[in-house]
Amino acid sequence: MNWNTILIRYGEMSLKGKNKSKFVRKLKENIKVALSELTTLKMRAERDRMFIYTERLEELDRAVEILPTVFGIQSFSPIAICEPTLEAIKETSLKVLSKTETEGKTFKVDVKRTNKSFPLDTGELQQELGGHVLRTFPNLIVKMKKPEILLYVEIQREAAYISSHTYRGAGGMPVGSNGHSLLLLSGGIDSPVAGYQMMKRGVAFDAIHFASPPFTSDLALQKVEDIVRQLTKFGSTIRLHIIPFTELQQAIIKQVPSNLTMTTTRRMMMKIADRVREETGALGLITGESMGQVASQTLESLTTINEVTSTPVLRPLIAMDKLDIIQIAEKIETYEISIRPFEDCCTVFTPPSSKTKPQLEKVLYYESFQSFDEMVEEAVKNRTTVIPSQRIEDVFDDLL
Ligand code: ATP
Ligand code: MG
Repeated sequence: MNWNTILIRYGEMSLKGKNKSKFVRKLKENIKVALSELTTLKMRAERDRMFIYTERLEELDRAVEILPTVFGIQSFSPIAICEPTLEAIKETSLKVLSKTETEGKTFKVDVKRTNKSFPLDTGELQQELGGHVLRTFPNLIVKMKKPEILLYVEIQREAAYISSHTYRGAGGMPVGSNGHSLLLLSGGIDSPVAGYQMMKRGVAFDAIHFASPPFTSDLALQKVEDIVRQLTKFGSTIRLHIIPFTELQQAIIKQVPSNLTMTTTRRMMMKIADRVREETGALGLITGESMGQVASQTLESLTTINEVTSTPVLRPLIAMDKLDIIQIAEKIETYEISIRPFEDCCTVFTPPSSKTKPQLEKVLYYESFQSFDEMVEEAVKNRTTVIPSQRIEDVFDDLL
């Protein structure tokens, strides 16, 4: 018996043809990166599932911990592999179950037989194996619907696979299988969740952050880098573009009446982000906006802000409640970082009140007194780009 393999099942079964092979290729790459700390990893991908092997048992345990963070995996099971004979299957089933807590648990055998020359048919095998298991583990209780332990036996021509536990995967699609975007990342609670939600749908991204030193501190920047580091765990390497925003914000305050400064600030952010997007070859912008949450997130505000670009702006949180967003932030462990009390540029420059229905004509009028477009270009040019956390992408190239 060989007990060093994990069987990985894909999601999105409806994908066909070229999309499917792209999905599988990307997933294989992403798993390889996610498991790059495993020194003896080997992989084999098929159309609908993948096998990974390690020679060291403790590495297998580590893989079980990491795989639930990889998008594109529906479920996975550590499997034992044995000869496709009744004797070997019986013996291996017992060994697999002996590693599981069985006392008082409900149980069922599920057999899948692709090797049609096997002497027993599926029903006979289920009976035979079930009886065998119950003689050794008399405390198990047979239950056909939703048993706690499902002994899964798959018989192929060359081998049989046996598992007693299936773990839930993260679902979604492999990060990078749906192109590249740019995430506007503030350091607040919402935008990291927005990034996570788009990663789940296969979108990779760079991040952009607007900083206004000396009004915003190094600790605010540190916070954003820590968020990027945390998000990297779910996807690929994320580059962070930091935009010096102080001059622009001061110019906005000078030129625009205070109840419209928020609108113009957002418009400038969008303009800058769109230019950086263009330069990095990304296709969309991602924000953490949620309908009605603050003055700048009414439909009227979004329209006036969005007027600066025709690039698709992805807003995965638009229909979500704050409590649900917080729940995800806690799950992905960005919440604790986001609530650190270091303010970003918007909080620092927040006016006493903002218009909830900013009129485009008025905004354009006030913006016309300053050469904002030049300032936008300047800010784009003066950005610094860092990679807070690099994934070890090239380490395992020789394995594939
Ligand atoms: P968040 O929790 O993400 O800060 P928010 O509820 O505070 O969102 P706003 O302040 O209106 O909402 O910001 C809306 C969106 O604009 C943010 O989700 C983010 O995508 C972007 N954004 C705001 N401030 C910044 C910033 N300093 N740097 C980069 N993006 C920003
Ligand atoms: Mg914010």
